[in-house]
Amino acid sequence: MNIEYLKIIVYAISTLLFVFGLKMLGKTHLARRGNMLSSLGMLLAILVTLIGNGFDYKWIAGGMIVGTLAGVLVARLIVMTRMPEMVALLNGFGGISSLLLGWAVYVETPALDTFTAATVFLSVLIGGITFTGSLMAWGKLGEFISGKPFLFSGQMFINGIFLGVPLVAGLLFVLHPDSGTLYFYIIIVAALLLGITSVLPIGGADMPVVISLMNSYSGLAAAAAGFAVNNILLIVAGSLVGASGIILTNIMCKSMNRTLINVLFSGFGAAPGGGEGEGEIEGTVKPINADDAYLILESASSVVIVPGYGLAVAQAQHAVRELGDVLEENGAEVRYAIHPVAGRMPGHMNVLLAEASVPYDQLYEMDAINPVMESVDVAIVIGANDVVNPAARENESSPIYGMPIINVDKAKTVFVLKRSMAAGFAGIQNSLFYKENTRMLFGDAKESVQNLVGAFKD
Ligand code: NDP
Repeated sequence: MNIEYLKIIVYAISTLLFVFGLKMLGKTHLARRGNMLSSLGMLLAILVTLIGNGFDYKWIAGGMIVGTLAGVLVARLIVMTRMPEMVALLNGFGGISSLLLGWAVYVETPALDTFTAATVFLSVLIGGITFTGSLMAWGKLGEFISGKPFLFSGQMFINGIFLGVPLVAGLLFVLHPDSGTLYFYIIIVAALLLGITSVLPIGGADMPVVISLMNSYSGLAAAAAGFAVNNILLIVAGSLVGASGIILTNIMCKSMNRTLINVLFSGFGAAPGGGEGEGEIEGTVKPINADDAYLILESASSVVIVPGYGLAVAQAQHAVRELGDVLEENGAEVRYAIHPVAGRMPGHMNVLLAEASVPYDQLYEMDAINPVMESVDVAIVIGANDVVNPAARENESSPIYGMPIINVDKAKTVFVLKRSMAAGFAGIQNSLFYKENTRMLFGDAKESVQNLVGAFKD
């Protein structure tokens, strides 16, 4: 068969695998298979692209082996709590790949036509911004760089220059690609600087939005690179990533009750340490121990478990699954309520609970659980804080006012499992801890859950 026909057929199959894979990622119980399906699509696409192009295969094979080993090692070694940083880095790698691809096309093509020059410009510009922007997000999440918004006077003006310079240089480059070497290197430098200066002012708490936006950028850069090298599948794959990234960005903004403009330009969302404007909280903190908590749980017929970042820190997912099992054996209906920004990355809680084989039909999204919360006997909050803070509903002066939360305070009784009265990621106090129906079960989440399970077994 003609090799070009074979490519078209395999690319079509890969496209279908990408689309079905992406669709399956939307359902927790299908997500693993969806991931495998899309990976298979990419492997097929790579293999068929390599056929019959006269490449020096030893370099390509070497690159694939090193890349595969690095990927497997990182995926195996990374601890769950550091997963968001890994996603940030991978987005950055996507960006730098597109930049390098655009650069290679520029160097390798003797006389660039206007269209190819425009696509080279876009892949280098967006790829460069994605690379350094993602590195900044990685640094902020890993706390190598302060999570506080980095603001200085004239910031907008400087960012305007960093954006204006590559746009003007890009226009000159596209109009005169043959004599555009200087403009080309200006574009690269300005794009790399723009990635840094546009993400530095954004606070650590807004990094989930930045990561999903960078994911979208990496797709757009890849699509532009696809046009530059005239590869239809790269255009399709890049567009899919670009579109899904922007949809995720929108979902994250809604979950935090923010607009994208507000996230990108307000310097809000500082990491821990905020708390201004919260006011005094009324009520008293009522600690409880595992034995007394057991007595209440033992007679509960409906229990909702709300996991948060502390569950990941304590690695309590298996113990939580065990608690769910003993509660069910005791006759209670058990549901798990998942907030879209609980933890430190989109889907963080779903991944942890899936690892512990929590049945998918027991997982409820925030909008599905909130309407029934008043009929719930006990809500058990495990290492969650910001995502259950009623200040988001009640206190107009709170920095998180307006953010949708899981309304655990409406349940008949609330147990909060955490180690201390410390604040969560947003750095603000939580009025839930002082409510009449709340009991604080202090200690490491895993130990506390194990104590509850132990009380049931005794
Ligand atoms: P929070 O960060 O608000 O709170 C986590 C709580 O867990 C802390 O108050 C801490 O209290 C407790 N904790 C930590 N370790 C343990 C442990 N070993 N055992 C028991 N408790 C523990 O988490 P949420 O999930 O409620 O909210 C997520 C926050 O992170 C939101 O503000 C969100 O915007 C932000 N964010 C989300 C991202 C995402 O994509 N999901 C990405 C980046 C930020 P204590 O120290 O007292 O134990």
